[in-house]
Amino acid sequence: MKKIGNIYFIAAIAVIGGGLFGFDISSMSAIISTDPYLCQFNQQGNDPITNKCRGPDSMVQGGITAAMPGGSWLGALVSGFISDRIGRKTSIQIGSVIWIIGSIICCASVNIPMLIVGRIINGFSVGICSAQVPVYITEISPPSKRGRLVGMQQWAITWGIMIMFFICYGCSYIAGTAAFRIPWGLQMLPAVLLFLGLLFMPESPRWLARKDRWEESKAVLSLVHGHGDPDSVLVSREMADIREVVEFERQNADVTYLELLKPNMINRTHIGVFMQIWSQLTGMNVMMYYITYVFTMAGLGEDVLLPSAIQFIINVVLTVPALIWMDAWGRRPTLLVGAFFMCLWMCINAGLFAVYSRPPRPYEFPSPSESMAIEGAPAKAVIASTYLFVASYAPTWGPVSWTYPPELYPLRVRGKAVALATSANWAFNFALAWFVPPAFEKQTWKVYVIFAVFLFVMFWHVFFLFPETANKPLEEIVAIFDYSKPGSVKYIGTPAWKTGNTRREALRLERGDISAEEKIGLEHRDLK
Ligand code: BGC
Repeated sequence: MKKIGNIYFIAAIAVIGGGLFGFDISSMSAIISTDPYLCQFNQQGNDPITNKCRGPDSMVQGGITAAMPGGSWLGALVSGFISDRIGRKTSIQIGSVIWIIGSIICCASVNIPMLIVGRIINGFSVGICSAQVPVYITEISPPSKRGRLVGMQQWAITWGIMIMFFICYGCSYIAGTAAFRIPWGLQMLPAVLLFLGLLFMPESPRWLARKDRWEESKAVLSLVHGHGDPDSVLVSREMADIREVVEFERQNADVTYLELLKPNMINRTHIGVFMQIWSQLTGMNVMMYYITYVFTMAGLGEDVLLPSAIQFIINVVLTVPALIWMDAWGRRPTLLVGAFFMCLWMCINAGLFAVYSRPPRPYEFPSPSESMAIEGAPAKAVIASTYLFVASYAPTWGPVSWTYPPELYPLRVRGKAVALATSANWAFNFALAWFVPPAFEKQTWKVYVIFAVFLFVMFWHVFFLFPETANKPLEEIVAIFDYSKPGSVKYIGTPAWKTGNTRREALRLERGDISAEEKIGLEHRDLK
């Protein structure tokens, strides 16, 4: 079948996997308080006074909600094995088929166990896609656009969250079970598109090389990076790098997760895993899952559609600057600026609530997690700084948390290492979803202080230990961590904060602007 070589097109199809992730995040929030949902899953029976359906109790509802991130955690973990064995592209296709099965079960759910099973299956699929889409795009992108292209996964996540929010909200006005069956059924469509679209996409050239399919690997690189020309400078350079690395790695046996804990790998493993843990501990999902608490406490009352929608729109729109400039900015500055500003907004919110809020009057707010009331100008300031928080996450930690981990590892372990990092995202996502409501109830404004402390720590963690990867060929990044690798000489003894962004060099190579000697050197390496 004829394959498409336009890298933007390839990325656009692959990141539909990210869109499924977004659907996953907002697929419950607008539905769980609607009558059709409460009556279909009416575990508690009807209220003796009002005769209204009471739906599942809070523990069971917690289980229904958490089934998805739980399944995602598992899916991310096993995705490393699947992807190393059968390929990046094929594993994402398997993910899309699993999503369709899960969505059919959710859409047809008649009782709580069926719904939970459907959500675990959906989550499993999202786990596979969220871990392997970044690996696939990383391995097929030219270095100077890698950040932008993998960052598109984050953009797709933000679109997914927003679209699903609007669909669910709209459907919540429909009478009968269609209110939840329509959104859970509609979510199948992007997965069908993902599956079919991937049929026309090439497999990762690096995975092919590792499986000794050199001809195919070179054909993909020529198609995607060389405008069809197998002799282009960039293709020769990448082939040479890949060959060197694959041959070096050949001497080692198959990889297990334990390999990631070995002394020469543990530093990278901890950076990748913490990248995802910190992205959760920024507190962004407090805004995604529980924004209604914050807006209710700030006096926005029952109808939180508009303020919530504004937040989801800010998230989508402000991811765009990162897509345009992330590679020029570099990963480190983007992360540091993001952590600094998010910390600032968290501190401002903590201060405003600590100084200006009062305990709510009995029955003032529906949920015990809405444990403070704030009014007037301070309330407006809380809303503004909440939006500014989202505006600070969207162009920084959001996209970089997906771009950075796959860049850190050698080919041999990349599939599993990224799978592990992504599973950390899901484990913390799951934990935060449970922890935040009781924390707001008991700790009130101190919840903001906790996140501000995390943000402070992550700033310095990144500053001291996270090296710059932007614009470097993947094989060169390996040399930053492993001094036994070709090209490591210039990195020996270089601390993370001195590893610069090599943008000019990357653009020069892509233009094919190299000296005659460099060209001979490359050809020589390629023939080795
Ligand atoms: C995070 C999600 C979060 C989303 C918000 C992603 O990078 O992993 O947990 O909900 O960003 O845009």
